[in-house]
Amino acid sequence: MNKRMTVAVLSVALLAGAALFSLAAAQQKGVAKPPLRVYISVDMEGISGVVHSDQVTSGTPEYGPARKWMAQDVNAAVQGAVEAGAAEIAVNDSHGSMRNIDPDELDPRATLISGSPKPLSMMEGIDPSFAACLFIGYHAKAGTADATLDHTISGSVVRSIRVNGVEMPELGLNAAIAGYYGVPVVLVSGDAAVCRQAVEILGRDIVTVQVKEAIGRLAAKLVPMPESRRLIRAGAKEALGRLGAVKPFKPAAPYKFELGYHVSAQADMGAMVPGVTRQDARTLSFVADDYIEGFLKLRAMINIAPAR
Ligand SMILES: [Zn+2]
Repeated sequence: MNKRMTVAVLSVALLAGAALFSLAAAQQKGVAKPPLRVYISVDMEGISGVVHSDQVTSGTPEYGPARKWMAQDVNAAVQGAVEAGAAEIAVNDSHGSMRNIDPDELDPRATLISGSPKPLSMMEGIDPSFAACLFIGYHAKAGTADATLDHTISGSVVRSIRVNGVEMPELGLNAAIAGYYGVPVVLVSGDAAVCRQAVEILGRDIVTVQVKEAIGRLAAKLVPMPESRRLIRAGAKEALGRLGAVKPFKPAAPYKFELGYHVSAQADMGAMVPGVTRQDARTLSFVADDYIEGFLKLRAMINIAPAR
């Protein structure tokens, strides 16, 4: 082979190689996974630094700093999600008025769902396109000892909520909404008590991030703020790095909802809703074939009840 032929053969080989390479790249593109979408529901009682109801109530002097802490905990989760490859992140403000996070304070790589009422409340915006769900700043169910600001949906109305006989914190009720759409909850952050309840209900593979340990209902030993955010960021990255470890939470249908009110006058109102059985003075129950329908009915029964 002379020099010119060698060059010609090499060129053909290179061209063929380049063609094969781009074909392989195109094939890879063809089977590439869809962009990773992550959904974050953020409550306030389990946010780093929060220990008292004044801090989670708008109009108080202490509310301003606490809503900044809320944004910073969320931003830590957003950063961890991005590091895990998240392409789209939705953040649903899920506390009180649901206008706690100042949009200017949120990491611009996330989209904010702000305000209320929203039909799915703390889970508004969830759909099957999300790969995973994170719960930031969550709290333990009503009646939990040594739990920061423990309550379930409404502190003045709800004493307990059971689904299929299991007493549920908000994290369980909301995880079942995510599960309805096939989305697993892979991380919960908050105090030690909510972390325990997350494992009890969603299993050992869920990542929990403990940002404080309650000393009664209105005091807690806090993880230092920078460390707390570092743990949330690392937890989000870890949880999203092993998708598939936690399965979507799907209680078995049909769903028996039991709502225990604080006082019988509240049950008097809820009992007017069609299809509801009064189990005792303060407890109503009903059965739903569809979880979302049941959840909406439950919310209506809570919202029509007068405050204590
Ligand atoms: Zn809340």
